[in-house]
Amino acid sequence: MLGEQIIKGLAVTARNFLGSYVSEERLPTIQYPEERQVLPEAARQFPFLVYDGDDPEKGLRCVACQICEKECPPKCIYIVKSKDKKPDYKGQMQFYPAIFDIDISVCMSCQICVEVCPFEAIKMDTEFELSTSDRFDGLLLHKQQLAKPNAHYHKIHPRDAAESDAVLAAEKAKAAAKAKADAEAKAKAAAAAAAAKPSAA
Ligand code: SF4
Ligand code: SF4
Repeated sequence: MLGEQIIKGLAVTARNFLGSYVSEERLPTIQYPEERQVLPEAARQFPFLVYDGDDPEKGLRCVACQICEKECPPKCIYIVKSKDKKPDYKGQMQFYPAIFDIDISVCMSCQICVEVCPFEAIKMDTEFELSTSDRFDGLLLHKQQLAKPNAHYHKIHPRDAAESDAVLAAEKAKAAAKAKADAEAKAKAAAAAAAAKPSAA
């Protein structure tokens, strides 16, 4: 019955209104910006680039594969790949983004870039106070503004950041084990070849 639903709705409103005088939890508003809500872990606004260590350039996880650029629905990511390479977290030489821009006036916070990145390199930030009077350049974020330390990721999304660390650590261990096995196989093959060689005498 429509009348019954209206009465139920009004009862909820009345309970919260009267309850807000005795319990802060029932207050529907806060004194922003002096007071701030604790954002839920799943909160997301715009992407940022994760870097490891202290150096945003050296530690940037992004290898400029451009998958996110291709998959971004409104095409607001712009990447220019470097000419040279730098070591990634596994010690393998990789390209890096010479330019990595995101136009957040276009970004729709869909998180597809995060889902498709194979390198745990791009994640969603919770920063939302980004308004500016400069509609164009002010909302075009460059690599230097997008790069944030892994510690920041841990602060805003601790559970996801721990999972990312575990994924990268497992891949690093796998790469190290493969490199060791390859080196051992190479050494074994060299020893076998040396043993098979007829002696000069
Ligand atoms: S969140 Fe969505 S729209 Fe924004 S940069 Fe990533 S893929 Fe593009
Ligand atoms: S953020 Fe990820 S998907 Fe995008 S270019 Fe860098 S490594 Fe590739």
